[in-house]
Amino acid sequence: MIESATIQNKLDVYSVRQQFPILNREVKGKPLVYLDNAATSQKPQVVIDALVNYYTDYNANVHRGIHTLAEEATMAFERTRDAVQQFINAESREQVIYTRGTTEGINLVSYTWGRQNIKAGDEIIVSTIEHHSNIVPWQILCEEKGAKLRVIPINDKGELLMEEFEKLLNPKTKLVSIVHASNALGTINPVKKIIDAAHKVGALVLIDGAQSTVHLDIDVQEMDCDFFVFSSHKLYGPTGIGILYGKKDLLDAMPPFQGGGEMIKEVTFEKTTYNDLPYKFEAGTPNIADTIALKAALDFVNEIGKEKIRRHEEELLAYATVQLGQIPGLRIIGRAKEKVSVISFVVDSLHPQDIGILLDNRGIAVRTGHHCAEPCMRFFEIPGTVRASFAMYNTKEEIDELVNGLQKAIKMLS
Ligand code: PLP
Repeated sequence: MIESATIQNKLDVYSVRQQFPILNREVKGKPLVYLDNAATSQKPQVVIDALVNYYTDYNANVHRGIHTLAEEATMAFERTRDAVQQFINAESREQVIYTRGTTEGINLVSYTWGRQNIKAGDEIIVSTIEHHSNIVPWQILCEEKGAKLRVIPINDKGELLMEEFEKLLNPKTKLVSIVHASNALGTINPVKKIIDAAHKVGALVLIDGAQSTVHLDIDVQEMDCDFFVFSSHKLYGPTGIGILYGKKDLLDAMPPFQGGGEMIKEVTFEKTTYNDLPYKFEAGTPNIADTIALKAALDFVNEIGKEKIRRHEEELLAYATVQLGQIPGLRIIGRAKEKVSVISFVVDSLHPQDIGILLDNRGIAVRTGHHCAEPCMRFFEIPGTVRASFAMYNTKEEIDELVNGLQKAIKMLS
């Protein structure tokens, strides 16, 4: 009984793999081993079909047309908003704003809420392990306004020093903008604690969910974050579409991000009135096809079940950590207690890029470099790492291939 329940709850990775056509291809004469999922995940056939179906069957602009194709396109486009609302448990669909991705979501908040609310002397807190897209927009804002960017330090496992964070908080803190799961190290940050502490001093919190949304259950109401951003392409969906969630009163009070069609109610040369949420922030013809296909990705993940996927990825991470840990000279960077399925490492004095090239010759795709997290790399005093990141379709055999490839690469380079 227990055994069959366990089997039922286990992800059937081989049947999952069949749904990702790209996994059948070869690279340099070898079967593709795709371990660069933190950069972008591969797309299942249902997502590819959703894109093709839109262009084949009902390509039309959304919202303004009264003809059948326009109505079909609009309905499909808006159905994604409902699916996202459920996926992150937002209070209402109006709080789900379409963006180009995580980067644009953060920039939207910095250019609208930030320019309206940040003034000289205010403070914005980020952490040492942020992606550049959660550093640079705030730096630009701070420079423009005479505000100060403050940084939460980390320990050598890659975990935030929470006592130091609490010391940074003060009445001048207006925003804490923090990554939920680090793309460079895999660290999962204690976002609920961060949010509660920030709220006590009256600061808002933006959560960068670029890496967490694919791995963890996201409940923005329970988290009580003020803003949450993520990208579809790391979640088995297409590139070019992402989501900004915000609390309604904040979104209502924010000025528009870009001006143009769709974001207006009425335009005269004397005065323009802006559209209601979410359209106030969605100027111009949106990315219709990719938005529609994002729903296919969410449905796909929901159907398999996030819990099942997470258990599978945790198994892969644990297995990879043990296997890689046995390679002489290999040092894992980022050993946080709570991690998503990302494993970063360096090997003695070998350059990560050389390792990456040799792995690619064996069909193994990993990421090498600073992972758009230079301050994090600087903390560890390294130029970059080799990073393997796992998705629902990866297998232990692929990790064996990685280990095998690494051993050969090290032999060649040493
Ligand atoms: N934040 C994190 C943690 C990321 O990993 C990434 C992308 O790698 C981003 C932000 C930026 O995402 P995008 O390039 O999709 O806007």
